[in-house]
Amino acid sequence: MSGEFKHFKTSVVDEGILLAGFDYFGKSVNVLNVESVSEWQELVQFAEQSSAIKGVVLVSLKEGNFCAGADLEQMHDAQRQRSFQEMEQLVITAHTLFDAMGRSAKPFVAAVEGACLGGGLELALACHARISSTHSRTCFALPEVKLGILPGFGGTQRLPRLIGLPAALDMITSGKTVYPRQALRMGLADGMVASIPSRVRTLEEVRKETLVQAAIAQARALCSTPVRRRPLPASQRLLSIPGVRWLLCRYARYQVVKRVRHFYPAPLRAIDAVERGLRLSIREGSLMVEKPLLLDLMASPISAHLVGLFLAGEEVKRKVATVPEAATRIGVLGAGLMGSQIAGQLAEKGYAVVLRDVASDILATAMGRIHKTQTAQVRKRIILPSDLRYRIMRIAPTIRIKDVSTASLVIEAVSEKLDVKRAVLAEFESEARPDAIFATNTSSYTLADIAEKAVHPERCVGLHFFNPVAKMQLVEIVRAPFTSEMALAQACTVAKRLGKFPLVVHDGPGFLVNRILSRYLAEAVIMVGEGIPVRRIDTVAKDFGMAVDSGHPMGPLELLDLIGLPVAMHVLTSLAVLGARIESRDELLRNFLPEKKPPLTFWKSGKENVQALNAVAHYRQAYPSEASPISDGILHQRLFLPMVDEAVRCLLDKIVEHPWQVDFALTYGIGFPAFRGGLLAWARQAMTPGKITRELESLAVKYGKRFEPCPGLSNGGW
Ligand code: NAD
Repeated sequence: MSGEFKHFKTSVVDEGILLAGFDYFGKSVNVLNVESVSEWQELVQFAEQSSAIKGVVLVSLKEGNFCAGADLEQMHDAQRQRSFQEMEQLVITAHTLFDAMGRSAKPFVAAVEGACLGGGLELALACHARISSTHSRTCFALPEVKLGILPGFGGTQRLPRLIGLPAALDMITSGKTVYPRQALRMGLADGMVASIPSRVRTLEEVRKETLVQAAIAQARALCSTPVRRRPLPASQRLLSIPGVRWLLCRYARYQVVKRVRHFYPAPLRAIDAVERGLRLSIREGSLMVEKPLLLDLMASPISAHLVGLFLAGEEVKRKVATVPEAATRIGVLGAGLMGSQIAGQLAEKGYAVVLRDVASDILATAMGRIHKTQTAQVRKRIILPSDLRYRIMRIAPTIRIKDVSTASLVIEAVSEKLDVKRAVLAEFESEARPDAIFATNTSSYTLADIAEKAVHPERCVGLHFFNPVAKMQLVEIVRAPFTSEMALAQACTVAKRLGKFPLVVHDGPGFLVNRILSRYLAEAVIMVGEGIPVRRIDTVAKDFGMAVDSGHPMGPLELLDLIGLPVAMHVLTSLAVLGARIESRDELLRNFLPEKKPPLTFWKSGKENVQALNAVAHYRQAYPSEASPISDGILHQRLFLPMVDEAVRCLLDKIVEHPWQVDFALTYGIGFPAFRGGLLAWARQAMTPGKITRELESLAVKYGKRFEPCPGLSNGGW
């Protein structure tokens, strides 16, 4: 038997072990859908019936991917058409099949290299053993809750039985990623081997890998022993007795509500599935508990939004131009808040980094900060101490611009001052290689401003990261009319390799995200100036779900604290070029910048900062305004409707082309709640364009001209 399937390659290796290579036809990753699951079913039946086959090893022939899980395009089609029969059939087939694998007298072993996610992990869980490679791309997760559903191929039933209830609830309700060493420790993997993945992904080549050899050995060992599953340690078994189980599930629900409030039903339904399923057999639990809950969640608008945003991200990654000859040595200018984070991320992904600032003590502080962040990964057993050393060694701190001359791409993250940025660009042009690219991380200047005096403006591009760099997945790749395709492609390649979504936007004040964000932040500051309490303003935004997806709900004033007032003020002031609708209240914010001291923040240790409140009182004495009662509903409108107006203006100015790009950018750039589908998707569902226009007009009458809607808003079509 060899190569009869469309999505699997097979060959029988030593002593009757069937090696099955998953290689989904026509996609870069393996997915589970009706087609591939039916083929796997045939393969399992063949193995069962053939007396020559003693066991099966499942391996992936994709680079860096074991299996990405269920086919989300198919699922999204079902959600759009509101027709779930095919999905239901797929779930029933998967349950029956995975159950048959578990009952089989012949062992199934998964050789996991690359991402093993969702349905992919559930497939591996249905095997009798899992051997993991130590490769940095290898990871395990059940991220279904992030798509508004629950693990529906038996994950809620098998995982708690394999790794114990607390660890399983944690993985299932958070969707968090587990790395090989963690997987081995928690019993998710039965073995782990250092293995170099073959570049040629054929069954013949893959078979020679240490990983596959170890999986074959494991399958052979399992053929000769009747005991298939390692029993849970006694302490874990104790945790599964009914009373303790009830307490654990209750605690898990409390944790979920604390993290995502009641915005997301999926993690809570997943806990229900685990709790109720543990009283039944795996097959009963899967079919009678897990399946109906899954189908219910799949039909919800929240899941449709989340899956839509996920697919938009894939589209963003797929569409951007990249270069095969990408930069491997990158210069970072400025080792402050952003530069140090960017340097750390680059080193983590294997780049050689030259980090330049003007003074050694600044560099020392930056290196300390990078070390601290990376050490957390050692503590969590994601990397080894030796990996940490290599990462840190990849960063060469320097105060000399000459040292940056060997880099083929330089990211500028120096202080937000136009003359400093222009001086740095001039230095770069005199020292750098003739083909080197200059990528600025500016948040408030246009690329055209910075490159005004450049000799080679075609080498300039924007590479706008968001803070905190490790968490925020969006990077705006800014193109000006003079930016070359090569500069654009180099910038996209770096962003993509960092695992970010590189969204190409056109040059303009604030680009896309900060331009829209500035309306929100400016309005929050104006409210503070009116005497509205800081806590109340932030609460209105958090009750809407702002930043809930990051696990740290955050209002606009908390966000201002995170960005840092000097940078935020620069953004607000420089966006005044857009017109009178951006009011920056400098007179108020200047009170927040005491001389020779760090700027004041609105919040301090979880409480409103008394000094900041004094600064506001000081401002209100100089600029008294009558505090009239205002409802939360109006506060909400004042925060969010101007953002919708600005988003439509961005579309009219062609900063981006499509409304979905706005939705995507705000979700991944500033934490607009994903369950609402994005800013414009939310606005479309909440109100008609005419109603939004009328609401803004009435706000303009009451609170000022800044609310006047743009002419295109009422036309719709966005
Ligand atoms: P920062 O003040 O923390 O760091 C700036 C660093 O640049 C300082 O260490 C300073 O010593 C250094 N510097 C000044 N002149 C230099 C020169 N000639 N060569 C090398 N280094 C020099 O500022 P930051 O918050 O890290 O912001 C840096 C850039 O990133 C700014 O353009 C900012 O707009 C942008 N940005 C900031 C955020 C944010 O949230 N803070 C987010 C996105 C983008």
